[in-house]
Amino acid sequence: MGKKDRQGPRIAFVTLRDMPGTQVMFWVVDECPYCGERHAHLAGNLRDADPGETLGEHPAPCRPERSYELTLPPRPKRKVGKEERRRARRAARAEDVEDV
Ligand SMILES: [Zn+2]
Repeated sequence: MGKKDRQGPRIAFVTLRDMPGTQVMFWVVDECPYCGERHAHLAGNLRDADPGETLGEHPAPCRPERSYELTLPPRPKRKVGKEERRRARRAARAEDVEDV
């Protein structure tokens, strides 16, 4: 998908999951931008105010020398098509100004 293979962090879309029976939440990366596999990152505790604070740049578990940026995906309205993904990428870039 990319044009240049830069060393900068790539965007990784996450979903928030909690572990049944615990107070622990995870950010789950369904498709890692590097290896395509699923990764999970500790998002915090259910009692914590805002798991969103743990979003942002994290080292990729599969590529210790690289990192990716955990980002909430824009809510898909219908099916996720090409157009939707393009928009998602743009939204991810603009997230500094347009924070969720
Ligand atoms: Zn990976």
